[in-house]
Amino acid sequence: MTPEEERALLAATAARLDEDLREAYNELVALIREGVPVRQAVAQVMGEVSADMASAIAIGLSAVLAQEVTPSDVLRMGVGTLQISARLNQEAQEVGAVVGGILDAQERAFSDLEAYALAVYLAYALRNRNGTEAPRIDTRNTDIPQTVRRTLLGTSRVQAAIAAAFAVLDKVGLSEAAQTAAYQSIIKSIAVIKVGVAFDALAVKLRTAFLERLSYVMRRLALTELHTAFTKRLAALILQDDDVQYVQVARGSRNAPPCMCDAFTGRDQYGLGAGVYPKNVAPLPPYHPNCYCWWKRRPDVHGPAQLDTNADAYFLRKLGQPLAARIAGSRAKLEQLLGGARLEDVANAGRLPQYKIGPASAT
Ligand SMILES: [Zn+2]
Repeated sequence: MTPEEERALLAATAARLDEDLREAYNELVALIREGVPVRQAVAQVMGEVSADMASAIAIGLSAVLAQEVTPSDVLRMGVGTLQISARLNQEAQEVGAVVGGILDAQERAFSDLEAYALAVYLAYALRNRNGTEAPRIDTRNTDIPQTVRRTLLGTSRVQAAIAAAFAVLDKVGLSEAAQTAAYQSIIKSIAVIKVGVAFDALAVKLRTAFLERLSYVMRRLALTELHTAFTKRLAALILQDDDVQYVQVARGSRNAPPCMCDAFTGRDQYGLGAGVYPKNVAPLPPYHPNCYCWWKRRPDVHGPAQLDTNADAYFLRKLGQPLAARIAGSRAKLEQLLGGARLEDVANAGRLPQYKIGPASAT
């Protein structure tokens, strides 16, 4: 598989995951609308998300490795200290908690809104006088419970609908019977708002909590897994290829924000050019999650290679601040590097063994 083919595969995998997630999100919203308890709804949908993701990775890995990989192979693979299946369960729990929290807040806000309607009605009934006026429904009216102001009135369409519901009080000289009818009409309108405009607003919040979060997590997990398999296989082929002694670390994406990859691709550690290394010692990408760097064969480079242990410090010093600190990861790490520490050592500090950066032969 060529790097171009790999990039196309990653893009296709990302698109596939996003489509699966969009379907899962639509299903989640539908289940919640039907009144299925949140945890049950999230568990059901996440079960499908896990299966979809395992099959998306399996298809990708089968292509990268040119051998059959099944979804259950994928679920047994490790990611961090966990198997992918356990990692996905963990994610389901967390998403479930966030989604549950959003729904609980919505429920509380609506019961507080009903209580507020009752309080307004009672106040009017007690006053029992001519000339009533509907309360001002906005976030600045501190008579309205904070839960309502925060959860419901932040959305202009919901605020307008609630204001319209309370507007029935905005009449001069309501009789007692008319006040009671007005209260009943408010309660009825609140029920309509809850399943209408307020539910639409809720779905937007769930979109962020579910779709955007999972899209980020799943892409990161799946694409990093595929890219790791790709770079390992590519490196194995290059190590066997006697016509190629040198490789160049190339960035997968030109518009990625500055990170340590800039140093791996930018330093001239062997006097062969920026990011060019003897293949036996070149650091194997990916260097971090969402890193799409790769090894480019450089049969045109012939050496000799001479290690310059100051290459990291030289490269970073030349870039200057604040870019150098962003590439190093922090000011403290930059200090270490300028003091002569190796980029690999600084980057590897605290990493799990399977994620340590090193030559391909070591992995
Ligand atoms: Zn990278």
